[in-house]
Amino acid sequence: MIKTVGYAAQGATAPLEAFRFERREPGVNDVRIEILHCGVCHSDLHIARNEWKGTTYPVVPGHEIVGRVSQVGSGVKGFRRGDLAAVGCMVDSCRSCPDCMEGLEQYCRNEMILTYNSHDRHTGGMTYGGYSGCIVVDERFVLRVPTNLDLPAVAPLLCAGITTYSPLRHWKVGKGNTVGVVGLGGLGHMAVKLANAFGANVVMFTTSPDKAADAKRLGAHEVVISKNSDEMRKQANRFDFILNTVAAPHDLDAFLNLLRRDGTMCMVGAPALPHPSPNVFSLIFGRRKLSGSLIGSGRPRRCSISAGSTTSCPTSSRSRSRRSMRLTSGCSGAT
Ligand code: ZN
Ligand code: ZN
Repeated sequence: MIKTVGYAAQGATAPLEAFRFERREPGVNDVRIEILHCGVCHSDLHIARNEWKGTTYPVVPGHEIVGRVSQVGSGVKGFRRGDLAAVGCMVDSCRSCPDCMEGLEQYCRNEMILTYNSHDRHTGGMTYGGYSGCIVVDERFVLRVPTNLDLPAVAPLLCAGITTYSPLRHWKVGKGNTVGVVGLGGLGHMAVKLANAFGANVVMFTTSPDKAADAKRLGAHEVVISKNSDEMRKQANRFDFILNTVAAPHDLDAFLNLLRRDGTMCMVGAPALPHPSPNVFSLIFGRRKLSGSLIGSGRPRRCSISAGSTTSCPTSSRSRSRRSMRLTSGCSGAT
């Protein structure tokens, strides 16, 4: 076993503290990664605080992991010692259900193994995440990272990036679409940049007027203060697609009524308490759809985070933003 140290919460109100534990020795198909950077996701807080229930303590959060490969199993084909590599929200799945067979392991109906706070079939304990020194993961769930990227900026792509990329691709958001993004936290930040990169007209909805300048800097073409009912009324029946990233209960009707006929609002924020039920008339009038989406497919064997050329990069001249946004064409179908 490999001794390492992480930051763990020992209870719902306990601060994160140093925690010594062991990783498994790499098996035939495993990659050992020395962790260089790990993003801080709102899920980390939800789970450390047991807000979604089901947390097993101690919990070591972290599922936006970027690091360097230090060891590989004898059967590993895609990685060598010294390579940069990344791990997102999952480290295994059943691999045989229809969803896994389609490359959509995030919807595995049998055994979705999350990067932390899941049953670890190798150790018999729990999986521990990226707030730690190293991690050992089957290469099927490890992504490649090119050497020319800004590594701290890559980390948020592993959860916030793919969680917003996936629904924007699934619903084919692009040129000619008017897209709303609700909430400017980590997910909203990524959603605005990606929707802009895909050519959509992007409208940011926020309750915080002081976030308007940031939203525009990130790529929003318009900003609507959603507390202002006059401003909201003007947006009615306008949107092809709304990505709702807010992780707190709120009135969904206020946004459903902004969709045009056959428009969809997709939920990606996960609040600790339910939203008030939407009024069914918001859906009936306009044949609107309310949906959800869970992280995204890594397609790890074929997909990498890359600076490979795309024609739909953000118009921002800030190189860090540009680099962090580019996903390879090999990922373009990943949903
Ligand atoms: Zn996350
Ligand atoms: Zn499965």
